[in-house]
Order: sequence, then C-alpha cells, then structure tokens
Amino acid sequence: MALKKYIFVTGGVASSLGKGIISASLAKLLQSRGYTVTIQKLDPYINVDPGTLNPYEHGECYVTEDGAETDLDLGHYERFINIPTTQNNNVTTGRIYQSVINKERKGDYLGKTVQVIPHITDEIKRRIKILGTKGNFDFIITEIGGTVGDIESLPYIEAIRQMKWELGPVNCLVIHLTLVPYLAASAELKTKPTQHSVKMLLENGIQPNVLVLRTEHPLNSDIRKKVALFCNVDYKSVIESIDVSTIYEVPLLMQKENLDGIVLRKLNLPEGEKPEMKPWKQFVAKVKNPKKHVTVALVGKYIELPDSYKSIMESFVHAGAVNDCKVELRSIQSEKIDKNNIDSYFKGVNGIVVAPGFGDRGIEGKILSAQFAREKDIPFFGICLGMQCAVIEFSRNVLGLADAHSTEMDIKTPHPVIDLMEEQKGVTIKGGTMRLGIYPCNITPGSRCSKIYSESEVMERHRHRYEFNNNYLELFGKNGMVQAGINPDTELVEIMEIPGHKWFVGVQFHPEYRSTVLNPHPLFIDFVRAAIENSSGD
Ligand code: GLN
Repeated sequence: MALKKYIFVTGGVASSLGKGIISASLAKLLQSRGYTVTIQKLDPYINVDPGTLNPYEHGECYVTEDGAETDLDLGHYERFINIPTTQNNNVTTGRIYQSVINKERKGDYLGKTVQVIPHITDEIKRRIKILGTKGNFDFIITEIGGTVGDIESLPYIEAIRQMKWELGPVNCLVIHLTLVPYLAASAELKTKPTQHSVKMLLENGIQPNVLVLRTEHPLNSDIRKKVALFCNVDYKSVIESIDVSTIYEVPLLMQKENLDGIVLRKLNLPEGEKPEMKPWKQFVAKVKNPKKHVTVALVGKYIELPDSYKSIMESFVHAGAVNDCKVELRSIQSEKIDKNNIDSYFKGVNGIVVAPGFGDRGIEGKILSAQFAREKDIPFFGICLGMQCAVIEFSRNVLGLADAHSTEMDIKTPHPVIDLMEEQKGVTIKGGTMRLGIYPCNITPGSRCSKIYSESEVMERHRHRYEFNNNYLELFGKNGMVQAGINPDTELVEIMEIPGHKWFVGVQFHPEYRSTVLNPHPLFIDFVRAAIENSSGD
C-alpha cells in the first residue's frame, strides 16, 4: 500500500527561485530511496491551461502523454524522475473555477451560495487528493506557483492549511523556498525578506516545516541559526540552496544538505542509508566535464526568452552528455534572417535546429535556414513547424512549386504542401483542440530514423493543427525527400528525411518532451553525433 504523504512546496520573496527544481530534486532523492513519487503544479492564473499563452508569458508549453498542455515545470519533473505526468499534474485557477461553475450550473450545490471557501478550496483539495487516490504514490509533492502574498495564491494557501490540519504532521508537510539576498555594499547576506515571507505564511495559518534558502553565497551557521529562531523551524531544517552551474546538480546539493532525510524524519519514516545516485552523478560529471564542443543554431522567434525552448535546450544537455560533448546553442531570431545576412548568422555552426512555433512572424527566416542547411550539407533537425518549414523550402526550391506554403500562413497558396488536418477543419475553439499527446509512428525500414530508433513503432507527443499534405508525397519521394515515419491509423506523415544529406530530419512531433536524464532521446543523441562529425576539422 502506498504511503500517500503530501508535501507542499511554496515560494516567497521573489518568483523564479526554482521551486520546480527543488520539488523535482526532492522527488528524485525520495525515488532513489525506493519510494514512488509524483509531482503536481498548481498555477494561480485564470487561463484554463497554458496552451493558449504566448511563450513570452510563461515560457514553453509542455505536453504530457495524455495530451495535457501544461506548465514547463512538468518538463523538469519528467526529466528528473523519468515518470510521465498526466492531466492531473497541472491545475490552474481557471480549471478550478471552471469545474465549480459547471457544477453550479448543473445544480449540484442544491441552492447553496457558492463561495471561495469552502467550494473553491474544496475543489483545490480534491485536485490534490486525486493523485493520492487514483495513483499509487508514497509521496505527492505539490508545488504552488507564484509567490506567497499574491492575492491569487490565497485560496491555495488556505487549501494547504486545511490539508495540514486534516492529515496531521505525520502525513503532510510544507517546504518554503525563499531568497537570501547578498548586499554587495555591506558584504552581507540578508535574512529579513525570508522572515517576512514566513510571517506572511503564518498569518495565513501555515507554519512551514522546512525552509530552503536560495543564495549566491554559502550560509554560515549564524545565519542558519537566526533563520531557524525567527521562523520557528529547527536548525537542521534550514537548507541552503546555493547557485550551481547546472540544475542537474541540485539533487546532489539537496542530498548533501539532507533535505530528503529531514523530510522522511518529519513524516515519521526511517531515514536509512543515503542513496548512491550513481547514474545521476555520472551524468552530472559528464555535463560538467565535456571532452568535445559543438555549436548548434537554434532558429526560433521567441529566443529572447530562453524558457520558450526549455525542453529542446534540456534535450541537448542530455544528448550532449551521452556524446561527451557540450552543445553550445546559438539562438537566432528567425525574423532577422535574410538572404544577405544568413552566412554570418550560421558562421561556424555544426548543426541547425528549426524550432516549433505558430503563425507567420519570422517564418521566411526559418524557411531560409532549412534551405541553408540543405544546400550546405549541415546537419538539420526540424521540429514540428521546423519540419513544416523544411517541406515548404523543398517544394519551392527543389520541386519548383512557386509560392508553396502552409495554409496556416497563406490560405490561398497554390501549393498547400502543409495543410490543416481533416479533423481540424470544423474546429473554432482554440483552447485544448490541437492534435495533442502521444500517437504511434511506424518507422520506415531502411530510413535514417530506422537506424536511430531501435524500435519499428515509436510513440511520440504532438501539438499541432497542420500536417504534411499526402497529395505531394510521391513527388517529394521522387525528388529526394522521403517519409521516414507514418501514423499507422491515419497515414499522417510523422517524419521527413533527405537520404543523401549528412543528416536532415524533420519531425511533426515533439521529441523534446520525451528526453529525460536517464532516457535521452535517440534523435537528439544522433543529431549531436552528426554535429560532432561535422565539426571535425573546425
Ligand atoms: N503551427 C504548426 C501547426 O499547428 C506547428 C505547431 C508546432 O510547431 N508546435 O501545425
């Protein structure tokens, strides 16, 4: 029987302190001790899910196997603990209110006044407990988005307070993550913001059990004692989280600080031996001491915010480690690329990735990038829209189909080589209506991908409305761009390749959502290998 212990992770002082990484690191440590763990993110915004958000707002939208469009922290959870998340692992205020309002319309509240307390807080608690009742988990770690003190976080804080009361200290605890800023002028670390943020939690009825302090400089015992005394936690429960060069080092740091041991002790479980974490340590050593270097261009239109391409970037860290190689990503704003400057943008790159995306801003720069890679024989990896751009480029410049395009960008194109999927034609509502989640793909025997993947049928995650137009498939094949993967049920083209090229693969799906530390994605691994091969002689 699973233990069903609930751990909440809140944040104070500032946003972006890395609650997701702390949650994932704790989960990793508990998992290494043999426990089953899941991690959930509660987001206080009103969008029903982040699928309709521009990546500039909150970064990438991560997609689960079961087709949920979620916060990018779920990507960290999967990359760290190597277990798929589901629709239940990310809940927003919008979704909570939507369920409560739907119930009210159905008459389920039997004439009662529907209120934030108890109806919204009950719905929050139900969404947290679902993971305990439906899953088989010893630990359910729930990260609360935002910062304590935000008006919109209040119902979540109240729900945690109630759960703490209901479950008791042996089954539930709160970890609060704060920042200890360093004042360079006086060369001092300051604990006051932490004290204030804990005070705010106390005002809301929550005494945190463990404090994780993010800091740029080591915390001495005086600082730890001060925080412990003023925040009512024991000395050992004041944990230092110092800045590190890679997020993958955080579990090792947390292990040194004994975060997992303290959590277990507080939840009345044996602390036992520290897990060895051997494969993890080997991975971190490879990330920190690469033997080779390559430069890969990442062409996208949201590059100003690196979080927009989080999973792609992390996939390169995983694939780089397998190849003993540091992959330097050169992010290039596709809007800026034109025929005259393209050489300078790609000078010295060993591979080119064209990123996923929507809409026509920067599209011609992406198409030019695919052309550049094809003509100069540079390893090319097109992901979703990136694959579509490679197809458009090939139509225009090899097949001679002038003005070929995707109907997403040009509804009147004479050659709709990328077109709206049949099932999308009647869709008018934007939220949650794309082709989402995992679908099977049969790998074509003899293709490059058949050598890369060791299986003949793979499952990959999707997030798109448009597809390769099969009316053109034969023409493409005759001219040197072939399909290398097909959905067995719908015959949708999943992969296009150019066999004569050094490495030219476009995929309609998103391999980056599936790459984890312990299971790096074969396509990224092989692309990095090809980029390394292409760099010899640099
Ligand atoms: N905009 C394209 C489509 O909807 C590609 C989507 C993507 O890159 N995720 O098909």
